[in-house]
Amino acid sequence: MSSYYKPHRNPGWNYGGRNWRLSRSKIALFVECARCFYIDNKLGTARPPGFPFNLNSAVDALLKKEFDIHRAAASMHPIMQQYGVDAVPYQHAEMDTWRENFKGIEFRHLPTGFTIAGAVDDVWVNPQGELIVVDYKSTSKDEKIDALDADWHDGYKRQMETYQWLLRQRGFRVSNTGYFVYANASKDRPAFDGKLEFDLTLIPHVGDTSWIEPTIAKLKLCLDSNALPAAAPDCDYCTYRQAVEDDLREHDVKHGGRTSVSEAPKYATAKTSKKSSSEPTG
Ligand code: SF4
Repeated sequence: MSSYYKPHRNPGWNYGGRNWRLSRSKIALFVECARCFYIDNKLGTARPPGFPFNLNSAVDALLKKEFDIHRAAASMHPIMQQYGVDAVPYQHAEMDTWRENFKGIEFRHLPTGFTIAGAVDDVWVNPQGELIVVDYKSTSKDEKIDALDADWHDGYKRQMETYQWLLRQRGFRVSNTGYFVYANASKDRPAFDGKLEFDLTLIPHVGDTSWIEPTIAKLKLCLDSNALPAAAPDCDYCTYRQAVEDDLREHDVKHGGRTSVSEAPKYATAKTSKKSSSEPTG
């Protein structure tokens, strides 16, 4: 087991536990696969996280610093001017909390009694006083990024819509249009020279938050039931898990069971130690 993956987490972090709350990423997981959501929130084992994307985090941190300069000065960032977006970065006492993992924009959802939260990258404000949700993304592609039209971009859009919805629940007026600030690292250079150069583009998205309340209602039914939901079709994780189970069963039949100590699951200690773990809000 790696130091950053803890299956069988402390039950206090599961549904019904005192630390449980519904994060934006949990809503996204439920939309993706109710079964994985159930295993995570009720049984206490989340999927192993991906390896940390340190370069993306560095870009996010630098963009935050850059926009914070304009926040303090109440001035437009050049990319807003370039794209004709009449707004400035929003100043609010809770801005740092809203952007912090494990905290975020939080409110109590009365129909379910859930505490729901999500950590946003940035919020701007237009002259009409409407808040604009902003999400930073970074990648490296040959073509200019000026649209998010692939199927897998739907997750990005739902992410932005969830932040828009959260801010509205907190009583703010929020523009339907949010923006992705996309940083695209160029490979079209003669040499690395110890630095990456990025092209910044601004991609608008007109959010539709109508799916969120019905999703939360379904998600609550799922959590309050003891029925394990069906697995999502075409999921590589479950295909892998099933294949491993089949291989091990076949192995046991062939070799009369597992006898080698090296085959003991490495997470056995974690299961008994019940270390606490928490989850990011984003
Ligand atoms: S189908 Fe995929 S997402 Fe769903 S439970 Fe299996 S591993 Fe998780």
